[in-house]
Amino acid sequence: MSFYNCYEKFKNFDYDSFFEKVTESDILRILNKNKIDQYEFLALLSPVAENFLEEMAQRANILSLQHFGKAILLFTPMYLANHCINQCAYCGYNINNNIKRKKLTLEEIEKEAIAIASTGLRHILILTGESPKDTPLSYIIEAVKILKKYFDSIGIELYPMTEDEYKKIIEAGVDSLTIYQEVYDEEIYDRVHISGPKKDYHFRLDTPERGCMAKMRNVNIGALLGLNEWRREAFLTGLHADYLQNKYPDVAISISPPRIRPHAGCFEDVYPVTDKNLVQYMLALRIFLPYLGITISTRESAGLRDNLIPLGVTKMSAGVSTEVGGHSTDDKGEGQFEISDIRSVEEVKEAILSKGYQPIFKDWMHI
Ligand code: SF4
Repeated sequence: MSFYNCYEKFKNFDYDSFFEKVTESDILRILNKNKIDQYEFLALLSPVAENFLEEMAQRANILSLQHFGKAILLFTPMYLANHCINQCAYCGYNINNNIKRKKLTLEEIEKEAIAIASTGLRHILILTGESPKDTPLSYIIEAVKILKKYFDSIGIELYPMTEDEYKKIIEAGVDSLTIYQEVYDEEIYDRVHISGPKKDYHFRLDTPERGCMAKMRNVNIGALLGLNEWRREAFLTGLHADYLQNKYPDVAISISPPRIRPHAGCFEDVYPVTDKNLVQYMLALRIFLPYLGITISTRESAGLRDNLIPLGVTKMSAGVSTEVGGHSTDDKGEGQFEISDIRSVEEVKEAILSKGYQPIFKDWMHI
């Protein structure tokens, strides 16, 4: 059994007919329930539910306080390299884009770690483009050995690996895995992943599960919003998270709802996702999966991120650079995309405090 079996049930689902049948009284009934099922989750993603965002926000706020209190965990990504062998139509690291490629040496990784750690951050997410040849497992493990000196929690957002590879990387000191399906719709997935190993839809879809089986502490999934009609991708992301939570109750499952940002090269075929849509997605998710982690990145503006804090966010990035070596060297590799919230760690910390929430720099230590 894989999540693909769940996906298949909805592969040819008539979303438009379903949404046409959702009524305002359905939404009010759903909002009065303690636990909702997958069809009720889908109803909360419907156009009709847009008229109930205030009521949804109140419910999401209560559930978020109940399960997470007023705490927001802070982290930052660290780009180790931007070499990539895939041709994803929507990404600046695409193998065909003529950008400045760079891979940090171990000395540069240490310099970058010192610069980031000086901001007070203790949780780091390391990223590379997807090129096992340029950034093999051995390089990642050496990088992790250095980063362990400066950070208490190390997450990875790399190319999909096997369960055994994840076990090795956990052994080295990694505790969290982020892997985005990008788009759950199989046809669109095939179209936007033009060439490279990422074309293998199934291997990628099962990657979060391999991370769970290897005993990652936290597994973070998501769809890149803009590649398909957002309501469908939001629904399938929620189903995927629900599947993982039920099957691996010992793993903390979280999602990110990233929206496409400007990047090197151009990708015109973007489905619109407004701020209001993003809010509806987050609220529906929180009501469907009350103890799901939700991460909001600096792809979103400072104002929007601040307003989302009480609605279910559990984790935020801060002091972000998407450039390779972006915190410590003048000889940077090009960034993956442009960020929107450019505030420093200190500024994000102050913004969280001003909302009455506690910025958390460390909630985990290696055991
Ligand atoms: S999305 Fe990932 S795999 Fe695709 S081109 Fe960008 S870095 Fe490479």
